[in-house]
Amino acid sequence: MQRNGRKPVVAIDGPAGAGKSTVARQVSKELGYIYIDTGAMYRAVTLKALRQGISMKDEQALTELAKKTDIKISYCDHTQIIYMDGEDVSAEIRSPRVSQNVSLVAKVPGVRLEMVRLQRELAKGGGIIMDGRDIGSYVLPDADCKIFLTASAAERARRRARDLRDAGYEVDLTQLEQEIAWRDKIDSTREMAPLIQAEGAILIDTSEMSFDEVVQKIKECIEQQTIN
Ligand code: C5P
Repeated sequence: MQRNGRKPVVAIDGPAGAGKSTVARQVSKELGYIYIDTGAMYRAVTLKALRQGISMKDEQALTELAKKTDIKISYCDHTQIIYMDGEDVSAEIRSPRVSQNVSLVAKVPGVRLEMVRLQRELAKGGGIIMDGRDIGSYVLPDADCKIFLTASAAERARRRARDLRDAGYEVDLTQLEQEIAWRDKIDSTREMAPLIQAEGAILIDTSEMSFDEVVQKIKECIEQQTIN
């Protein structure tokens, strides 16, 4: 699939736990695209802020921190590895402590501007699938294909619980449901680039769909939207 000599850019947005990253990784593998998980970038800045004891309310300090943080990504079998100031933090950014604070960091405009600059740079060459909250609406409004992936709150919490248990964490499902609802609320009500379904984005509710069905559906959407 090529458009004007450039491979397409695909934006996948949606709330926490909708399954964006697992399906986006698989689709990128099958189509030979590069997969970029933008949530990992906000998580890396959050991890650094927590380590340095910076208040999640101190917007100026968080903005300064984001400016001074070197974030790089590389790949191992289509899985994204994220480096923060040269350190591989791919596992640590998934910790519950980071998840419980990340939306407070991500709502700071200065932090977002830094991350968005990096994301646009990464998307320049095309042939990418980027997932996040504001990719189709703000980061890459000219994306060739936009998808909004969602699922019921209960199903999203179940999926997150499974991922966390697989990573060795103990999980309280009720607490996780509350955390996801809290994150969704902050993400969708913040002033700058909130979580919304971008104009022209195809809505896919994955509550009743298997992983393979979602992958297939997204591939079809990409095909339809990029050949027109
Ligand atoms: O995708 P993930 O759940 O890892 O994202 C973690 C958090 O990062 C989100 O809850 C949101 O606060 C923030 N985020 C964002 N914009 C993006 C990606 C993630 O604000 N494009």
